[in-house]
Amino acid sequence: MKTGKLYLIGGGPGDAELLTLKAARVLRECDVVLYDRLTTPAVLALARPEAELIYVGKHDGEQEREQARIFELILEHATAGRTVARLKGGDPLVFGRGAEEWAVALEHGIEVELIPGVSSAIAVPGLAGIPLTFREVSRSFAVVTGHWKTGTNMDWAPYAKIDTLVILMGTKQRVLIAESLIAAGRNVSEPVAFVEQGSMADQRVVETELGAVAKGEVEISGPAVMVVGEVVRQRKKFTK
Ligand code: SAH
Repeated sequence: MKTGKLYLIGGGPGDAELLTLKAARVLRECDVVLYDRLTTPAVLALARPEAELIYVGKHDGEQEREQARIFELILEHATAGRTVARLKGGDPLVFGRGAEEWAVALEHGIEVELIPGVSSAIAVPGLAGIPLTFREVSRSFAVVTGHWKTGTNMDWAPYAKIDTLVILMGTKQRVLIAESLIAAGRNVSEPVAFVEQGSMADQRVVETELGAVAKGEVEISGPAVMVVGEVVRQRKKFTK
């Protein structure tokens, strides 16, 4: 029997044209596609028409159970000889537990190939007119998760020293994040941008200040990339 294979594929930030040529080719060849909540219909439409498409998006409170199901689905289909595309938003190894899926597949003797993707961490600010580095304004950026166990916080002091902070999965905890950054020495008037639906036709950008976010004055509902830093001010040069 033909042995299966797992492709860990970066689906990019949403616009299907931002997929790599390799990702597009492999999607056309796969038997099974496991996709996430942030996978857009335009990307999914590139899969082979006969492919089995399986939604494996995670919901709050069910992460562990869903992750166990993803491991099972990968093993079940790959050991049955199928080519499995594990399609993840952005780059497969930037959050989202792609590396764990890679390790589990290898432990079970399944061949794995990584197809990197355009991470929302870099592409989404850029598409909103925010360069993460800029001469004399920002020499460094860090990509930080805004998602951790409710009721706890992380130590923001080391991150507060970095010029530009890109926070993913930070919408829900935005008030606590802003408060923590201010407590760690960032200025209340420092500019902040939230970019929702990055790279898509309905992309939305909210530009504000750290102090306003800390006071709970900024309404954001969906997943967004949060950018904190002086580079946000560059935006006016690049957008109408
Ligand atoms: N592996 C992904 C990130 C997964 S974490 C990557 O490299 O992009 C999921 C988070 O990414 C979301 O909560 C949000 O913060 C961000 N995100 C992904 N795609 C986005 C998009 N198109 N617009 C805005 N934020 C996005």
